[in-house]
Amino acid sequence: MVLVITDSINRDNMALYGYGRPTTPRLLAHKAQAGEQMAVLQNAWSVDASTLPALRNMFHFGLPESENPPHLLALARAAGYKVWWISNHDDLAIEQQHARLADVVDMVNRTPGRASASLDGEILDCVQEAFADTSTDRKLIVVHLMGAHPHYSLRFPENANPFDDDVDAVENGLVKDGRSAWVRRFRQEYDAALLYHDFVVSELLQQTRSAGKPGEDRAWMYLSDHGQEVGHGSDRAGHSPSTASGYRIPTVIWRNREPLPSVAAQQQPFRADWTGWALMDLLRIQWNGQMPERNVLDPSYRWQVPELPAIVESFG
Ligand SMILES: [Zn+2]
Repeated sequence: MVLVITDSINRDNMALYGYGRPTTPRLLAHKAQAGEQMAVLQNAWSVDASTLPALRNMFHFGLPESENPPHLLALARAAGYKVWWISNHDDLAIEQQHARLADVVDMVNRTPGRASASLDGEILDCVQEAFADTSTDRKLIVVHLMGAHPHYSLRFPENANPFDDDVDAVENGLVKDGRSAWVRRFRQEYDAALLYHDFVVSELLQQTRSAGKPGEDRAWMYLSDHGQEVGHGSDRAGHSPSTASGYRIPTVIWRNREPLPSVAAQQQPFRADWTGWALMDLLRIQWNGQMPERNVLDPSYRWQVPELPAIVESFG
């Protein structure tokens, strides 16, 4: 099982979700190939606009304030999984709260803070090593990417911005909405970061799809910790607790066994603080804390509107 957590990706900028710039050609190719084995949750939301609370919610089943909250990695280990934490972040709090629970910790990037320029592709070799490990047949590989965290221009290789100076429908729409040249420029860099991100995420999916022996269960889940405002709802760029863009995330699930939610069911809203419930299903772990109504993969799943500090006109 591979869990890919990325940073600051707003699904509205992914061609996979209908965006006007070709930012996700590789994920679209996977989708065309994978068919019913790949579900793109169309209305996925984070309930936190920054990394630390988002990860805390994600790994504690949305119950971080409860007494002795369960932690997903501890449960996976108790069920016999060997757990990897492979990260392009250098964040002490994340290490202490989550990574320390893994058996193997690979912090690829040792430059503290998110102004660091280590590209996410640096983690791919470590993930390949985790796949090659023969000491266990139960693996949970957590990959923590920098995604499109500001500064956007640090998130893709030099000279790899095809949206530079593009006058396309996206650019014209931003002009029409009165967005400044400054924000339109950020949007181009953000979209270039998404294009590079598409490469890294697709490689991780490819590694998962081609790993293991025939007949072995494999699963892959990808989501962002929170969204990002880049001229979507206001003339600014960055983390955005007060606008819906700060919470609009992608969530994609692939698995080689058992049907995923139907195309109709993929329209149901999903909240990232309930990720743990779906992950336990993907890991095939039965436990006494199960709540099928919070597991987006379960037929009895039922959406509940989260309380956000932003005004959201519609969740889906
Ligand atoms: Zn973040």
